[in-house]
Amino acid sequence: MTDDIALRRAPIEITGAHRSSLRNRVRSYIRRSPRLRAVWDAVKYARAALGQRAAECTVCGKTSRFLAYGFRANALCPHCSSLERHRVLMLAIERRGLIPPGSEVLHFAPEEPVTHCMRRLHLASYLTADITPGRAARVLNIEQMALPDASVDVIVCLHVLEHVNDVRALAEMHRVLRPHGRALLMVPIVEGWETTYENAEAARTVAGRVQHFGQHDHIRLYGRDLRDRIRAAGFDLATYTGSGADTVRHSLLGGETVFVATKPG
Ligand SMILES: [Zn+2]
Repeated sequence: MTDDIALRRAPIEITGAHRSSLRNRVRSYIRRSPRLRAVWDAVKYARAALGQRAAECTVCGKTSRFLAYGFRANALCPHCSSLERHRVLMLAIERRGLIPPGSEVLHFAPEEPVTHCMRRLHLASYLTADITPGRAARVLNIEQMALPDASVDVIVCLHVLEHVNDVRALAEMHRVLRPHGRALLMVPIVEGWETTYENAEAARTVAGRVQHFGQHDHIRLYGRDLRDRIRAAGFDLATYTGSGADTVRHSLLGGETVFVATKPG
C-alpha cells in the first residue's frame, strides 16, 4: 500500500536515456512500415522545402538557402528562381565561352533566369521563340522554323526536344545555324539507358505520357543514344557536366549534362 502511494506521487522523470530509447523504438516501428516511413519522409521533406543549405547561384551570383522545387530539395534560387539546369548551363557558357560577345542568339521556350543571363553577354541580337503565342517574342515551330538558312550563331534549347519530333527539330536547328554555330541542348535523360524510351500507345494520352515519360506533354524519355540522334543531324558533339565540387557549391543535379551541338564549318 505504502509503495503504491509512493509510486503515484513520484514525479515522472524522463531522462536522456529514456528519451533516446523511446525515439529509437518509434523509429524502428516507422521503419518496419513502408507507409509510415513514406509519411515520415514527407514530413522531413516538408521541413527541407524551405532550404537546408546555402549555395551560390551562377545566374544571379547570390548565396543563400535554396528552396525545394517539386520533390527536389535545394533546387530553386530564392532570388532569381534559377533551377539546377539554368545554373549548370551558365557554368558551361562561362567556362567554355559558348556564346561569344556579338553572337546572334535564338532561345526556344525561354525561361526567365536564362533570359536574365543573356542580357549580360553583350549579344548582337537575342530572339526568344515559342510555339505557343504570348510566351516569347516570336511564335516559331521548332520543327519548321520561319527563319532563313544559316542566320543564327547560337540556339539555346532547354527541355524542348522531349516534346517534339526531334529528328525534324534537330534538322531545322542545323539548317538555321551558321557554320561553326552551336545549339546548347538539355533534356531529361536516363544515362543508364542505352536507348531512348518511346511508346506510341502511351504517348497518345495525358495519363500515358505522365506515367511513361514523367510529364503530361513529354513524348519520350531519352537514353544515351541522344548523342547519336544529335550527330545523325550533322552536328559535332561535345558535352559539359559540372564537377562534384561545382554540384555542391552551386546546388546542381549531379551529372546533369549540357549537350553542345556544333555545326561543322
Ligand atoms: Zn539566383
